[in-house]
Amino acid sequence: MISKPDDLWYWPLAAQQAELPTFWVRDTVSSHGRYADRAKKITGIDLVRFHGHACDGLFRGMYALSVAFPALFPDGVIDRTDMRVMSRNSPCLGDVAAYLTGGRIRFGTQDVDNSSGVWFLLQRMSTGQTVKVHEEPGFFPTEIGQGEAQLAHLSGDDLSRAVTALHDRQNQWVEHVLLPSSPSDHYFVEPLDFTWPDVPFEHIGVRTDILYKNVP
Ligand SMILES: [Zn+2]
Repeated sequence: MISKPDDLWYWPLAAQQAELPTFWVRDTVSSHGRYADRAKKITGIDLVRFHGHACDGLFRGMYALSVAFPALFPDGVIDRTDMRVMSRNSPCLGDVAAYLTGGRIRFGTQDVDNSSGVWFLLQRMSTGQTVKVHEEPGFFPTEIGQGEAQLAHLSGDDLSRAVTALHDRQNQWVEHVLLPSSPSDHYFVEPLDFTWPDVPFEHIGVRTDILYKNVP
């Protein structure tokens, strides 16, 4: 039976000590509600609880988005009722994007594109203002990426050893390279003239919880 420890075993010690970005977000107050008049603070631990683990992709996504949001929300509060987001279809990057922007494929406000690397396209729906943020090429070691791809070609003990080694290498990079750096050192944001294509998902629905956000 799986144990249920009552502590933050899933939160790496290094991250506890690091100065991680935090995010203030604004939402509505109910399923058909108005805007909330107060913001909420989201931290890295919240992202881990949603995504499931503290991986390199989660930290890289967090760093990248922390550089991008101020370009769209100069007042420092991310409006999760007003955003579209696109990223590579990585489990990790897509989750961070959805959690922090409020974009979801089922409402036509999240999409994916398999261009490699860590990047996000972010758009404020109300204004059309769009930015792209990307990670500095070469910042994430090529050999770790190769190690990820290599797993598909291994089996048995070789696979077991490779999974362990890959996890160790990823964690070492996060602890010794990413976390000691500042997000703006390796993640860069630029404005973009962009028309958002329709999201090709046939079950798209209406997001009712933002329809009445501006009702007096
Ligand atoms: Zn992940």
